[in-house]
Amino acid sequence: MNAMERSALVNTSTEGANVNIILIGAQGSGKGTQAALLVQSLGIVHIASGDLFRAASQEQTELGKKIRSYLDKGELVPDEITVQMILNRINKPDCASGGVLLDGFPRTVAQAQALDKGLQGVGQQIDLAIYLQVPREELISRLSGRYICQAHQHVYNIYTNPPKVPGVCDIDGSNLYQRSDDRGEVVEKRLNIFFSETIRLLDYYRAENKLAEVNGKQEIDHVHMEIMKIIKNWDRSPPK
Ligand SMILES: [Zn+2]
Repeated sequence: MNAMERSALVNTSTEGANVNIILIGAQGSGKGTQAALLVQSLGIVHIASGDLFRAASQEQTELGKKIRSYLDKGELVPDEITVQMILNRINKPDCASGGVLLDGFPRTVAQAQALDKGLQGVGQQIDLAIYLQVPREELISRLSGRYICQAHQHVYNIYTNPPKVPGVCDIDGSNLYQRSDDRGEVVEKRLNIFFSETIRLLDYYRAENKLAEVNGKQEIDHVHMEIMKIIKNWDRSPPK
C-alpha cells in the first residue's frame, strides 16, 4: 500500500475519528513501525514516553525539574509524574483534533489505572488498546538475529534477511555487528518483563471492552490495514 492508497483509506473511513489509542507490543513486535504508519495515515499525535522524558527534562518548569532530578539519580520517574507529563502533552493544541497514540506507557496495570484517573480529570479517556500479537519464539528470532553494519547502520537479520556474504554489509562492505541490546540473554530478559507484566494490560483493557488484538506476524502493510479497520469500526463508548 502506498501513501496515496493509505490516505484514501483514511479519507473514507476515519475522518474526525479523534481516538486515543494505546499500542501494546513487545520489543520486536513492529510497534514502532506501526506507530509511524498510523501517524502518516491518521495524522494522530505519537506520544512516546521516552521522547517525552527527554524533552520535559530540558524544560525549566517545575515538572521538568522534578523529572530531571529522577533521571539524574538514575531512578524511575514515579507514575503520577509521568501521567502529569502525558496530560500536559495531550492538552497541547495539536492533539485536539486527531487524538493521540501512546507508546511506551502504560507498561503496568498500576500505570494504566493512574493514566485513566488522570485522563478522566481532563475529560478524556483511552478509547482503544491495540495489541500487536507476536509469539515469543518469533520475537526472539527477530531480535537475536538482528545485525547492523558499522558504516551506515544498515539492518540485517541472519534468519529472515541475511547478507549475501556472512558478516558483511551488501551495500557498503563494512562489517556487521550485533548490538548489546539484541544479544540472547538481554533479549530474553526484556521479553520476560513484557510477558510477565505488560501482558496484564490485555486483561485490564479487555475488562473495559477496549482491547483489539492484531496478528503481528503478518506483513507490515497487512498489519497496518487491520489496525485501520479496527479504528474505522470503533465506536466511542459513553464516558463512565
Ligand atoms: Zn551498510
